[in-house]
Amino acid sequence: LLDALADQAAVGIERTQLAADVDKAKLAAEADRLRSALLTSISHDLKTPLAAIMGAAGTLKEFAPALAAAERSDLLSTVIDESERLNRFIANLLDMTRIESGAMEPNFAYHYVGDIVGSALNRAKKIIGTHKTEVSIPDDLPMLRIDPVLFEQVLFNLLDNAAKYAPDGSALRIQAWSDDGSVTLQVMDEGPGIPVEDLERVFDSFYRVSKGDQVKAGTGLGLSISRGFIEAMGGTIAAGQRTDRSGAVFTIRMPASRSVPGMDTRP
Ligand code: ADP
Repeated sequence: LLDALADQAAVGIERTQLAADVDKAKLAAEADRLRSALLTSISHDLKTPLAAIMGAAGTLKEFAPALAAAERSDLLSTVIDESERLNRFIANLLDMTRIESGAMEPNFAYHYVGDIVGSALNRAKKIIGTHKTEVSIPDDLPMLRIDPVLFEQVLFNLLDNAAKYAPDGSALRIQAWSDDGSVTLQVMDEGPGIPVEDLERVFDSFYRVSKGDQVKAGTGLGLSISRGFIEAMGGTIAAGQRTDRSGAVFTIRMPASRSVPGMDTRP
């Protein structure tokens, strides 16, 4: 009987091993698929602006004398804008690699969230364009121990998205409050919002919700980088739907610092 049991156990173990091997093979195949999808997507994001630059530069070289000044200026603007796009994309890729390899080392200092919101809004002025901005941040919020450069970049990404996906002239709202030893900051817009099933996936690298979004300049990297930055600073970031009307809400929660207000550098 003991032998029979041992045999059975051995068969069981073999089966488990087999199942584990099948799982491993499935995982490896999935990783391969993702890697090649990633490469296709990266190549596309590099090739599109490059093709525009080459086209504009080629036309300029061949026809410059025959072109009106305004046409030459348009072509040069294409070269500059698309080079900036390439530059941003490559910077994003580098950020992604730093996050994924765990090489992200925030430069921590104590800051008021209102100050960072102010500088992000200032930087995003051109992008915000005709959107209205409503900011409601109490003066007495505790300070946050953050990297101001990374935190501003996250806010900039959220404002950039809000302005990009919500109609011109609509309101972008930023509000913050503190409770239970943490500070919560929300960025909300009056756009179409994000479908429930995509609320988590929008943080995946290269994920974009709909084909319609592909026509808007973007790489699908902004939110995954933002999550990487926020987590590296000890916080969380999530997407949600507005309950009062259509629109997206992004909620960042950061542990509040117990430092003395008024002090803005590490003790
Ligand atoms: P990108 O904007 O470059 O595509 P992101 O990582 O910033 O990349 O966003 C991923 C996707 O999430 C976007 O392509 C879009 O489909 C969706 N998304 C992000 N922010 C918003 C928003 N405020 N409103 C509606 N959809 C959004």
